[in-house]
Amino acid sequence: MGFAEAMRRGLTQASGSLKMIPSYVGRPTGKEQGTYLALDLGGTNLRVLAVRLDGQGGAATDAASRFVVPQDRMRGEGTVLFDFLADCLSLFFKNHRLDRLSPWELGFTFSFPVAQTAVNAGALLTWTKGFTASGVEGQNVAALLANALARKNLSAISVAALCNDTVGTLSAKSYADPSCDMGVILGTGTNACYVEETQRIEKLNPSLPGKEMIINLEWGNFDHLETNVYDQTLDRASFNPGRQRMEKMVSGMYLGELVRLMVVDMIEQGELLKQKDASAFACPYSVTSEHMAKTFHPDDFFASFGIDDAAGRDGVTIARVCRMVSARAARIAAAAIAAVILRMDKDLGRRHTVAIDGSLYEKYPGFEENMRGMLEELFASRAVNIRLARVSDGSGIGAAVIAAVAAANRPQG
Ligand code: ADP
Ligand code: MG
Repeated sequence: MGFAEAMRRGLTQASGSLKMIPSYVGRPTGKEQGTYLALDLGGTNLRVLAVRLDGQGGAATDAASRFVVPQDRMRGEGTVLFDFLADCLSLFFKNHRLDRLSPWELGFTFSFPVAQTAVNAGALLTWTKGFTASGVEGQNVAALLANALARKNLSAISVAALCNDTVGTLSAKSYADPSCDMGVILGTGTNACYVEETQRIEKLNPSLPGKEMIINLEWGNFDHLETNVYDQTLDRASFNPGRQRMEKMVSGMYLGELVRLMVVDMIEQGELLKQKDASAFACPYSVTSEHMAKTFHPDDFFASFGIDDAAGRDGVTIARVCRMVSARAARIAAAAIAAVILRMDKDLGRRHTVAIDGSLYEKYPGFEENMRGMLEELFASRAVNIRLARVSDGSGIGAAVIAAVAAANRPQG
């Protein structure tokens, strides 16, 4: 089943590899105003922000803190993970001397697949990106956060919105730019969302008010892609075999592992690093996408693995391998963007701005160019109607924007 068909099926009750999760919010108007909190749980980092919206498309971060999520919190008990989130909020209030007793509206960016049932409620479907905290799958994560806030005397904070990071990225950009109708994440994981006509979301019955709603594709799980032996080996050895197949070919968490599997194979075939101590490559996930980015200076790549005297030929080979893996990732991401845009606009007759967040897109040399190249192959001159726009901090500012939209739409009384 192709991508377009998987999207269509996902909007009905039928099951497919694209979950097409309704967000229960449309785009902001740009007139939302006030200061809102954002809590952004990505995959590697946790960030807390206070964002001021000026009502004219301007958003300013008044305060921000970043925390690393310790491995034992990711993989221990769920309550311990959520207590950690609340503790980080406490620290944020303390460090920035904010008043924790006055009322705050918070947008909670939770970048995992959630079955959203309202703008501020949704159950975690399944952990991804190495998280396994117990007792969270199947639970309403907004309520788990609210409970932790109550335990830590932060009840003045109301969890106004539960946001996917893709939806946040779209919202952050569209607050100032009405041509933005798609959000994409290319970081530890990958995912995307777009603006759908509410009446075309068949599975929402009875249909909801509002002309449009943002749909979270959960495209990391798309599974109709041609895989090779390295993709298959990576998938079998992963903690979620059979799932997130597109993510395993595209996102930052996995690209280095694909390279490592190819390196190990080439060493075994005697085609790479002859007579060198290559034991560093035996360890799963020892190669990261940051290492791959270093192959623009191949000596630096091998030096990171304790090999200072790699042959020039090996440098050429590793650079080529990394280029292949990263270019394939970028081209798959761009082809999927093309499919989504064609669903919104089958003739590509309008301007579409795609808001993109994530360090892979931002920092991997050539990633953006490879995506553009794919779009130009697909659409030729019409590709000018697609603008790829880097949104740094989309998932943080966007959560605040969505909290503002949710607060504005909330029934009074
Ligand atoms: P998250 O997905 O947790 O929100 P990021 O968007 O920062 O976080 O993405 C982190 C991922 O981006 C890392 O897993 C890594 O694969 C990739 N990455 C970070 N820095 C670089 C870099 N300099 N070059 C290539 N890839 C990078
Ligand atoms: Mg992120």
